Amino acid sequence: AKSLGKSRYALFNPDMYASALARLQLEADLRRAIEHQEFQLYYQPIVSLISGRILGFEALMRWQHPERGLVNPADFIPLAEETGLIIEMGYWALYEACRQMQVWQMTYPHNSLEKISVNLSAKQFSQPNLMAQIRHILQTTGLNPQNLALEITESVIVENADEAVAILLKLRELGIEILIDDFGTGYSSLGRLYSFPISVLKIDRSFVDPMTTNKRNLDIIEIIVALADKLGMSAIAEGVETKEQLAILRNLHCQSVQGYFFSQPLHSSEAAALIARNPQW
Ligand code: C2E
Ligand code: CA
Ligand code: CA
Ligand code: CA
Repeated sequence: AKSLGKSRYALFNPDMYASALARLQLEADLRRAIEHQEFQLYYQPIVSLISGRILGFEALMRWQHPERGLVNPADFIPLAEETGLIIEMGYWALYEACRQMQVWQMTYPHNSLEKISVNLSAKQFSQPNLMAQIRHILQTTGLNPQNLALEITESVIVENADEAVAILLKLRELGIEILIDDFGTGYSSLGRLYSFPISVLKIDRSFVDPMTTNKRNLDIIEIIVALADKLGMSAIAEGVETKEQLAILRNLHCQSVQGYFFSQPLHSSEAAALIARNPQW
């Protein structure tokens, strides 16, 4: 038994030990954060290139950590997904985003704001009670389902195939809009894409970022915009940081844009101030 113990030790090097420990600590920390309600939503405007006005906001999660300060999703969403904690966190995010959007709809009844967009992870999507939860959230917050959009990645539909279509159809029946996030980076079969009730393709930042220096990326964006158009959908380009990118996207008739050029994700109070100002680009 002793030698077995020893050989196990040999496989378990100190680096692995350290990272396993860090993971365990992060997981415990996440559970505590859920209990103590340390998560916040930040809101990044999505701008319509047709009206030049703010069409909606994407809700993005932040973790207000007691010692580490404001933590970005890259540092906790992956583990939350692995451990399944994302289900509870995602439910909270959906509730909070709908609640906030309803407040904005009541406070600024005449503004251009139409959609609050919430990220839905694959784990949440495959929960059998997803529809019931969404109905419950809409009922409690009083938000019109037409004001809600859900962002899913290509992998969600690829992995869930037939169930996915059924769920998406139910969501659309309710009036909720479905976006494909990070489009172009996954494995959607173009043939299937046609059969999904999707309204918007969100062009991944990895294409937008180098578009002014790399012709190939520009071509890909042009193709995605044309594809969305052919399928009766629209396109949102994410990660727009410069006026050069914006000018090209306008030329390509991309319907909407999002990125640091317009605004970083904002605290709800800053987002409210922006809505009140009602800027036009
Ligand atoms: P995403 O859904 O692709 O969100 C867009 C990310 O790009 C956000 O990062 C946003 O802050 C960032 N971004 C926006 N404009 C620009 C720009 O012009 N330049 C650059 N460099 N970045 C820009 P963030 O907030 O750190 O979120 C990262 C990812 O975490 C999100 O990627 C999404 O996959 C995930 N996430 C965030 N909130 C939630 C949530 O509530 N639920 C789930 N399931 N995932 C979430
Ligand atoms: Ca997103
Ligand atoms: Ca995205
Ligand atoms: Ca992305």
